[in-house]
Amino acid sequence: MTPSTDLNIPLFERAKARIPGGVNSPVRAFRAVGGTPRFVQRAHGAYFWDANGQRFIDYIGSWGPMILGHGHPAVLDAVQKAAVDGFSFGAPTEREVELAEEIADLLPSIDMVRLVSSGTEAGMSAIRLARGATGRSRIIKFEGCYHGHADALLVKAGSGLATFGNPTSAGVPPEVVRHTLVLEYNNLAQLDEAFALHGADIAGLIIEPIAGNMNFVRASQPFIDRCRELCTRHGALFIADEVMTGFRVGLQCAQGLLNVKPDITVLGKVIGGGMPLAAFGGRRDVMEQLAPLGPVYQAGTLSGNPVATACGLATLREIRKPGFFTALAARTRALVDGLHSAAREAGVPFAADSEGGMFGFFLLDALPQNYPAVMQSNGAAFNTLFHGLLERGVYIAPALYEAGFVSAAHSEDDIGATVQAAREAFRLIG
Ligand code: PLP
Repeated sequence: MTPSTDLNIPLFERAKARIPGGVNSPVRAFRAVGGTPRFVQRAHGAYFWDANGQRFIDYIGSWGPMILGHGHPAVLDAVQKAAVDGFSFGAPTEREVELAEEIADLLPSIDMVRLVSSGTEAGMSAIRLARGATGRSRIIKFEGCYHGHADALLVKAGSGLATFGNPTSAGVPPEVVRHTLVLEYNNLAQLDEAFALHGADIAGLIIEPIAGNMNFVRASQPFIDRCRELCTRHGALFIADEVMTGFRVGLQCAQGLLNVKPDITVLGKVIGGGMPLAAFGGRRDVMEQLAPLGPVYQAGTLSGNPVATACGLATLREIRKPGFFTALAARTRALVDGLHSAAREAGVPFAADSEGGMFGFFLLDALPQNYPAVMQSNGAAFNTLFHGLLERGVYIAPALYEAGFVSAAHSEDDIGATVQAAREAFRLIG
């Protein structure tokens, strides 16, 4: 494909004239890796086709939701039937009750659920609920964890304990993030010190139990246990942000793998199956603080949307089928192992991890445990790898610090073709 025949290029030019950066979410712009984003025309199973009609094996899957692949027949059928009955009512439906029941049935930590439309909305509402339920203001978050783009959570790494965060984004007043304390992921000493200094003021601690927004970094068992223990001891609420890991790393989510019971869980992505749907849920006494029962206000015109709930329910019913996660995890592991051997053959440092249908890799000799270590991964080499794969019809996240996703639609042949493409792409890294 030459630039003069690549139909993505004029589309991107058109987009840039009317949409800031040509995209509706920044990472899609290929800023980190350079080049032209692929404009998706359609998708099916493990693939999408771009403006040129070129097929790509898709390891993004809308950044996580498409766990069944694109256009799964049962999901498509549920969505089509729901759409015929009406797009949105602004009144309760049985399907949203069913979805809340399904989520509560799968996650023992959840007694009650409130449905919303995005992970950002869910995370933001969970923080408000924690503050309202405890009557406190301070929040702990961890460097490298992303919880959506609500002001209070848009805080980059503080430079250490008790450093009240600086806003990551322009437009967030310092007063708004004054109550957000940013700590290093997996750092027990900082965590202990934060609670020792501020325990009585902390409303909640929010964490990605497997952090997918710094590629793929697991919270260690002692670390997550200490988060839980300190929250209980100091009367703060433990909030697990499982927007990415929820029903993606396993049926019991990351909290099941780590055997930890959050007070509030934030969900998104897979529970909507690709439709705008997210949720937060948790302990009954906490959730009953929400309006109309309690004093914490939260609302939404499209919350519990009937087409989105149909999509989410159909998706959850598929992933509950026996053996689903065993097969998905094995396929994902095969991909990671194949990438590992391709890197080794080319002499490129490589470390990778996966759980269920989620994976991450670093161009490093060992898996990092926190954000500063993640930042050591080789950006220039990644860009070469990314474009090498893209040219060979394999689409991974266009940024070094993002996780990847395998769906049930990815076949053994897809994994084999990906590993072969990676063998060639790794050789380009000089
Ligand atoms: N929390 C986590 C862990 C996420 O990964 C994301 C998005 O990637 C969000 C929250 C925000 O979700 P949304 O993009 O639906 O607003």
